[in-house]
Amino acid sequence: MEDSIDYGKFEEGRHVNYWELDRRLQREMRRVLSDEEFDWAQNRLEELGKDIGHTVADNADYIDKHGPELETYDKHGDVKNFVRYPEEQFEDERIVYEAGTVADSFRAPPGRDEPMPLTHYLGMIYLLGYAESGGFACPVAMTAGAALVLEKFDDGELKEYYDALTARDHDEMIEGAMFLTEEQGGSDVGANETVAEYDEDAGYWKLTGEKWFCSNIDGEGTLALGRTEDAPEGTDGLSMFLVPHGDPEDGVMTKGRRKEFEDEPPGDALNDQLYRRLKDKLGTTAVPTGEVEFEDTKAYLVGEEENGFKQMTEMLNLERLSNAVISCAIIGRGLLESKIHAANREAFGSTIDEYPLMREDLVDMTVDHEAATAYTFEASRIFAEREEAERADEEADETYRMMRLLTPIAKLRTARMAIDTASYATEVQGGNGYVEDFVTERLLRDAQVMPIWEGTENILSLDVLRALERENAHEPFMRVMDERLDAVTHPALDETKATVNEEYEDLKKALATLAGEDADYAQLSSKRLAHYIFEVFTAGLLLEQAQEDLEGDGATEEPDGRSAIIARRFVQNYLEDREARGITSGDRLPLEQFDAVVRFESVEPGSLVETVEAD
Ligand SMILES: Cc1cc2nc3c(=O)[nH]c(=O)nc-3n(C[C@H](O)[C@H](O)[C@H](O)COP(=O)(O)OP(=O)(O)OC[C@H]3O[C@@H](n4cnc5c(N)ncnc54)[C@H](O)[C@@H]3O)c2cc1C
Repeated sequence: MEDSIDYGKFEEGRHVNYWELDRRLQREMRRVLSDEEFDWAQNRLEELGKDIGHTVADNADYIDKHGPELETYDKHGDVKNFVRYPEEQFEDERIVYEAGTVADSFRAPPGRDEPMPLTHYLGMIYLLGYAESGGFACPVAMTAGAALVLEKFDDGELKEYYDALTARDHDEMIEGAMFLTEEQGGSDVGANETVAEYDEDAGYWKLTGEKWFCSNIDGEGTLALGRTEDAPEGTDGLSMFLVPHGDPEDGVMTKGRRKEFEDEPPGDALNDQLYRRLKDKLGTTAVPTGEVEFEDTKAYLVGEEENGFKQMTEMLNLERLSNAVISCAIIGRGLLESKIHAANREAFGSTIDEYPLMREDLVDMTVDHEAATAYTFEASRIFAEREEAERADEEADETYRMMRLLTPIAKLRTARMAIDTASYATEVQGGNGYVEDFVTERLLRDAQVMPIWEGTENILSLDVLRALERENAHEPFMRVMDERLDAVTHPALDETKATVNEEYEDLKKALATLAGEDADYAQLSSKRLAHYIFEVFTAGLLLEQAQEDLEGDGATEEPDGRSAIIARRFVQNYLEDREARGITSGDRLPLEQFDAVVRFESVEPGSLVETVEAD
């Protein structure tokens, strides 16, 4: 059994080890990896958690104020397309990529014969999200996404690019990017107008058009969508291209090769495109997001012509999960800063974590963090399982259908929670929280993009409908729910399980109703449905974990009731119809279980059964 955590001994959520302090992440990684994988990964995650908690956390604050700058032209008016990064960004890149964050899930890392599953990558980028809440985490996510697309769809022509995207050595590597959005359409990708023509003489495809939001603008492994001659309108007519930053005639422009161009403009070494300007954004400063004009820009076709959108959705699924784990990390960082501040700040004669209202705040932030992280890693586990099956050429239809349902919901819900938690964490710091010297103000600015890129909340809700309509995703969903709830038998969970059962029955009615309603009604209900699925599914998952811990074979060696309290509070907050807002109930969970929930104190299971019986 692990010791509880005394947050009063820290000064802030920096210069600490994020892996060591995030017990929920530890639990989820232990759950989603096999024992052998976890044994291999544990020390590496711990090492990365330390480096991110120290060097990257400091660098992130610095880069936020001294972000990348674009020099579009040189003094003679020639295109330069040069993004100048602070040295701290390169230091972060070396730490994160050379730890194997992307590489280890694509190539067998040192000490293993096989690559790690993508859940390992998601665990590592989660740790990065504690410090780089959306900024530098974005290129890392797109590097993994571009590698996944090439692994799936390239026939070997782009092997050099794949090798560089998955390289561990900083000098040998390149980063990915994903240019979909054009001014006339971000959500409506089918409105893309960029044209692609094959130039026989040059032996390349040539792209012409404008991309309106290009994060990691100078990525060498950029994937872009374009329309070939006579291709149909809409998404069916889109093809995918790899558009290098450098002139592909000269080979892959790795990070090492770029060092040659630090002082003088690369000139002919560049591909023909114009980085018009960088956007002046609210947050995520570390990633340069800009506008790009293609004009006869050299490109490689990736996969099949007119299959680009479908291929891009494979990348999008991973990006959405990356977004979700980073959102969970934002929640985790906001929570950590709040716990530490509340344990140290005195007002009216006591530390503020002694007061009932703050106790409730911290309990509910903790429950939110653990619920979001549990759901997201379950969605990640399912995603990775499907990828493993594909790599092994095995059938994984059921897993695919679950992935289609759970992935958009993971992104949709956690993004909203990240903003809410970052906002409240700002308030917990008091006035300082609103000041740039403290990280909460950046967390809040960074969090605001989470629901926008990779699909807004509305667009994701429509995607949930599609997963239900086209994939009948409710079938595997209900099978999983049934199995989970059947396995929950501990008396300490009776009350919570009864509420979840009732809501699950209502959710099934909602699903049946929508299947019979017209498209407008289904769309009207889809966002509420997505959140409802999140809440019921997460409640089932938390109950399953609580059952395991009460029996003593879950994350805890000895039987422990802490997870039962987490499940109970989550259900109270999101699924229970509480009379008079719970005020008449006399429930004092946040006061009685504060140490268990917030400080990870273990709970004797017998005490919970007695509480329920006494109720
Ligand atoms: C910092 C940042 C970085 C970005 N980086 C990239 C990048 O690297 N690559 C890239 O391709 N894009 C990128 N984007 C663009 C982003 O993906 C789009 O902005 C986003 O998908 C929304 O598209 P849009 O801006 O065209 O808004 P619109 O599609 O016009 O949406 C406007 C609003 O309408 C709603 N809406 C649209 N359609 C419907 C509907 N059918 N039903 C209900 N509501 C609807 C949306 O939910 C949204 O609230 C980035 C954006 C930002 C802010």
